[in-house]
Amino acid sequence: MRNDDWSRILGWPGYRVYRSEIDEQAKTLKLWVRRKRGKFMCSGCGRAVSEIAEVYEREVRDLPCFEYRTTVAVELYRLRCPDCGIKTEKVPQLPSKAPFSKRFEDAVGEACESAAARRVAKQFGLAGSTVRSIDLRYLERWAANRRKPVLAQMGVDEIHLGKKQKFITVVSNLDSTEPVWFGRERKKETLDGFFQSELSARQRMRITAACVDMGEPYRLSIEQWAPNCSIVYDKFHVMQHANQAIDEVRRAEFFRKGGVMRGLVKGKRWLLLSRWMNLSSPKRQELTQLFAMNRKIFQAYLLKESLDRLWTYRYEGAMVNYLHRWIDPLRWQRLKPFQKLAEMLVSHLDGILNYCRTKVPLGVVEAINGNIKSLLRRGRGYKNLRYLLLKAQRMAATSTEFVAFRKAA
Ligand SMILES: [Zn+2]
Repeated sequence: MRNDDWSRILGWPGYRVYRSEIDEQAKTLKLWVRRKRGKFMCSGCGRAVSEIAEVYEREVRDLPCFEYRTTVAVELYRLRCPDCGIKTEKVPQLPSKAPFSKRFEDAVGEACESAAARRVAKQFGLAGSTVRSIDLRYLERWAANRRKPVLAQMGVDEIHLGKKQKFITVVSNLDSTEPVWFGRERKKETLDGFFQSELSARQRMRITAACVDMGEPYRLSIEQWAPNCSIVYDKFHVMQHANQAIDEVRRAEFFRKGGVMRGLVKGKRWLLLSRWMNLSSPKRQELTQLFAMNRKIFQAYLLKESLDRLWTYRYEGAMVNYLHRWIDPLRWQRLKPFQKLAEMLVSHLDGILNYCRTKVPLGVVEAINGNIKSLLRRGRGYKNLRYLLLKAQRMAATSTEFVAFRKAA
């Protein structure tokens, strides 16, 4: 094949192939390319530079040509830039120092959107760590080229990363349904760090609502930094406490009773945390059986299920009424964890009622939380929080998953 044909097949704008080599045994193709002429751009400052200091060659892996793994040897120039000194020229096809072309990295990055790094590594014949660094560069390029959505309604959440890394704080944008920032730990100082380092005073003023858990630290930080922001103790966070309460009841019953009861309660944690409407009929039967044996667990489950309905009310009065009707019977039920929950709800009532005053979307915090957790489950090796953040943002932008949304639908 002629070099002109190879140039056309390769399709690198501004470059032509001047030599090719095919190894049929190894199934490899190697193409040597050089510039057709034109201006050189300094990789430091981006200006056009004409003085050349040195010529050298670099090899990068490109997309395969049919069955042939393809390598491109590129003739490159080191330039003498008046501003930066000696610098390599900027070549759009070579986005980093790694031995891969841009479109090869794009292909790997795209593959990583729907498969675990380990599988992509196998598919492309690369090491897992190489795939992850390619993916990270791919995501960084994507992030650098997009407009950051305005932050008006935010979610603040904590996610458990594991025994070693413990908790991180997740700040998300409820309008664009994506996480915008991760910080280590879950203290007031953690969230302070976000407000200080990520937002200007004007951007902080623009925040109108925040969905957070009922804990102190985040509230204090928001009150200090975002004066126009009303705090909403949203359904997702309140229901997490309800789930904790039912789990406490379950554990207490498990340890209190022996024999048959133990066997029945065992392995039911997930069932008790599930919403009734999401369960199949065999699962419902399992629960019904358990309820017939243990009245306390039954009462706890009813309380959890009925609390959920609080957010069907959009008027403060109606919400308050419903909450009182929910709390009243607790006096006779001797369910400590739920009495504690009731006290918590009463002392945070204002923030719960803010749901009626500020229109915040339901389920977004939960969806973002679910997406991050599914990323964590799928791929080990998110020691790099930046990588995890970009991954979750990309996921939201391409709507590849949205686990919690699907469940809710
Ligand atoms: Zn320069």
